Amino acid sequence: MPELPEVEVTRLSFASRIAGARVLDMRMGKPLRWPLGVSPAVLVGQTILRVRRRGKYLLLDMDRGVLLLHLGMSGSLNFANTQAPAGKHDHMDLVTSQGVLRLHDPRRFGAAVWSSSEQHEPALKLLGKLGMEPLSEGFDLKLFQQGLKKRAAPIKQVLLAGDVVVGVGNIYASEALFMSGIRPTVKAQKLSAPRVAKLYAAIRQVLARAVEQGGSSLKDFVNAHGDTGYFQLEASVYGRTGLPCRTCEAPIKQIVQGQRSTFFCPICQKH
Ligand SMILES: [Zn+2]
Repeated sequence: MPELPEVEVTRLSFASRIAGARVLDMRMGKPLRWPLGVSPAVLVGQTILRVRRRGKYLLLDMDRGVLLLHLGMSGSLNFANTQAPAGKHDHMDLVTSQGVLRLHDPRRFGAAVWSSSEQHEPALKLLGKLGMEPLSEGFDLKLFQQGLKKRAAPIKQVLLAGDVVVGVGNIYASEALFMSGIRPTVKAQKLSAPRVAKLYAAIRQVLARAVEQGGSSLKDFVNAHGDTGYFQLEASVYGRTGLPCRTCEAPIKQIVQGQRSTFFCPICQKH
């Protein structure tokens, strides 16, 4: 599943090339997770001003609204001067004066949704409850601490819920908790202020590193088109059940929380 770093790298792969382009045509294929909500003709003639990201949504700001794109479970975007005829898993072509943006999505959990503005439905419904952006200046330690104080659920599940901070998916949550020495099962509100500060720094670090690694392989990423997989993170705990901890050599443990696998070191993560 594309996580925040993959979505950010996708954004970087075409944002500057599509900015200022005029929409010439929009073709939709099979139904996606949510409908576009308007006739594709509504987009024709509009100018794409910029491409932003909010959580795992890409926002294409245009003259009279915003096109929200989500990659779902298996989606990928490719922007090129020309595209081959749409294949059976290509479900959106946004044809512009500067190239064609294509959504390839075999499982069709992705979406392209039009909204007249970010403050109106359906954008408001999709974006309104998202937490802070971990890679932005708006990710504030004080607000992070306050957000966790209100939550009695295990810290790992609070991170995954995305309403305090967005984009910390399963892999990155396990890794950030290891880096900050926190047991994934601890109640969020029980964490000490210094420990929360460590977690805050770890989240930024693990996500920024993933974007950086993705960015360095940007060319491959763009060309891969639909077969991008996960970034090859040098994981400390994720997927390493039974293997020795890289710090203390104790075997890494795996548990299930909210139907998701969690990996941690029983020695290094005691807080
Ligand atoms: Zn350890």
